[in-house]
Amino acid sequence: MIQNIWCVGRNYAEHAKELGNEIPTEPLIFLKAGSTATLSSKELHLPFWIDEVHHEVELAVQFDDNLQIDEACIALDLTDRAKQNSLKAKGQPWTLAKSFKESCPLSPFFPVNDLEELKNLDISLKIQGEIRQQGNTAQFIFGLERLLDFVRQHFPVLPGDLLLTGTPPGVGPIRKGDVLEAEIKGKMKHTWTAK
Ligand code: ZN
Repeated sequence: MIQNIWCVGRNYAEHAKELGNEIPTEPLIFLKAGSTATLSSKELHLPFWIDEVHHEVELAVQFDDNLQIDEACIALDLTDRAKQNSLKAKGQPWTLAKSFKESCPLSPFFPVNDLEELKNLDISLKIQGEIRQQGNTAQFIFGLERLLDFVRQHFPVLPGDLLLTGTPPGVGPIRKGDVLEAEIKGKMKHTWTAK
């Protein structure tokens, strides 16, 4: 069971820049409720009250019973960008922009035997066949061990929880009817249709 989804903001320098944010000096962590996760669905449901939902394709790792990583998947950290920007400007928490219903679609999981397997992976998102986001996990500002240590040290991480590792540049809106193809090369491919 996924109780908590620990998310890292701004873990690719190019994405921090595209949103006009500073490069962080320690991991920026925020939460999505575990109940925002939708597992291996073919459909992605855009909430009626949000004008523009943005996609953020991310590598997600899952904590096992010993709080080590034994599985991973592709996550879409769906975001109400306009709301996030207005909350940010007022210094208010991002919950409404980040943790709305079905805001964390997940691909099926793939096994992880060693963290090294996750350190040089191409990750991409295509919409309607066109590349929108592209990056490699070697470009993380904070590496996986640092992120895992940081999260386990400060937060009550539980078995089954996810860590979303941040998104590469190219975030943008999803329209109804869009077909989204996410890929972590050599590991996982998953397609959603936006409804
Ligand atoms: Zn994100």
